[in-house]
Amino acid sequence: MSEKFDVIVVGAGPAGTSCAYTCAKHGLKVLQIERGEYPGSKNVMGGVLYRKQMEEIIPEFWKEAPLERPVIEQRFWMMDKESVLSFGYKGLEWAEEPYNNFTVLRAQFDQWFAAQAVNAGSLLICETVVTECIVENGKVVGVRTDRPDGDVYADVVVLADGVNSLLGKQLGFHKEFRPDEVALTVMEVINLPKDRINERFNLEDNQGCTIEIFGDSTKGNLGTAFLYTNKESLNIGVGTTLSSMIKAKLKPYDLLDYLKNHPMVKPYLDGGESAEYLAHLIPEGGYHSVPRVIGNGVLVVGDAAQFVNAIHREGSNMAMSSGKMAAEAIVRAKQENDFSEVGLSSYKDALYESFIIKDLKKYKDATHTFENYPQYFKEYLPMMNQAASKFFTVDGTPKRDKQKEIMRGLTKERGRFKVMQDIYRAWKAVK
Ligand SMILES: Cc1cc2nc3c(=O)[nH]c(=O)nc-3n(C[C@H](O)[C@H](O)[C@H](O)COP(=O)(O)OP(=O)(O)OC[C@H]3O[C@@H](n4cnc5c(N)ncnc54)[C@H](O)[C@@H]3O)c2cc1C
Repeated sequence: MSEKFDVIVVGAGPAGTSCAYTCAKHGLKVLQIERGEYPGSKNVMGGVLYRKQMEEIIPEFWKEAPLERPVIEQRFWMMDKESVLSFGYKGLEWAEEPYNNFTVLRAQFDQWFAAQAVNAGSLLICETVVTECIVENGKVVGVRTDRPDGDVYADVVVLADGVNSLLGKQLGFHKEFRPDEVALTVMEVINLPKDRINERFNLEDNQGCTIEIFGDSTKGNLGTAFLYTNKESLNIGVGTTLSSMIKAKLKPYDLLDYLKNHPMVKPYLDGGESAEYLAHLIPEGGYHSVPRVIGNGVLVVGDAAQFVNAIHREGSNMAMSSGKMAAEAIVRAKQENDFSEVGLSSYKDALYESFIIKDLKKYKDATHTFENYPQYFKEYLPMMNQAASKFFTVDGTPKRDKQKEIMRGLTKERGRFKVMQDIYRAWKAVK
């Protein structure tokens, strides 16, 4: 451990591995340190992996990587206690190469991805915790690990240590995240034979489906639940911001039980066997919560930098892209032999030019708007279900009268002005 490296990457999630892989491909001497027994052993993901960003790192990865199913249908449910209003998209173009996205089991995928970085020349050490960054004269020069004589040195240290990023905190890049900046998600993997999955989700062969569920899935609190198809299992999970959980006195595992027993969800799970049960935080503070991402000799990537677009459940792709951009900035810095904040600044330029910062900026007020104005999840979703029920129930009432009655019902509860205000506020938050 006394060698000096060009780059030390802390963490072997998608962000860390994409950085280690790209650096190694450029001939840099890379050490990747992971605290888990193996990459993916500490990770949980409900499991959608996006093709585009992964393909930019390893072309045609789907021919080799351990993937579950290509997703051909994305459904969205607005769920009430005994009903669901749904919409979505199913497209057979997603069933063919190059695909759109895939369900994955992270324990398998992360191991495979990290092995590609090792094949490219990166050195991976597992079961090792980085306890702090070593700082000399205002510059990060290496890391201290929990191994005996475990100090290691490098020109650049990349913090890919996930949502809690204790190392980012140690450097003063961010404070303890507030409860409204992180969501606590619990999920379960439920084994179910392939033919039953295909029958229940109306799929053929290895096609996949994802369902995002809002409303009663979180008992009307800000958050989402999800149900995804793997080859021979389902991922079901639910999460809300920690602040919503505290305010509503929700217990995460009770919420998952509630979801699994919901009459709209239960039939999908029937006869399945629980295989794994996991809980994890997701950074959901968005644009306003992005910490400092560059210092002298150090870069921050992925969840550690709060790069998650909660509205589109995109995190793994932002992690991979930010890891790759960090690697490219390090390669540039190496050419100039300048690993200072200025020398590494092309990382920030790349982030701001990319979908990462643009998308986070677009939704910068969304989480806070929906958290501060609970009527969207608590009142409007049930109202929309009632409206659909009224509209589609054939009872001899002329359709125009029905429409009027529905509109009256919608505005009666909150008043016409407040409804207009709510619509405008929601539009502003996601426009
Ligand atoms: C339940 C759930 C469902 C999700 N669903 C999706 C989805 O469908 N699609 C999507 O795109 N994203 C999803 N996400 C988000 C996605 O998982 C993350 O955005 C992504 O994993 C971030 O990658 P990362 O490499 O930055 O961090 P992580 O994947 O968290 O990896 C960090 C790694 O660093 C290691 N580590 C931490 N500290 C240290 C240390 N001090 N020393 C050594 N190692 C350390 C950890 O063990 C871990 O392996 C989901 C997240 C959760 C929790």
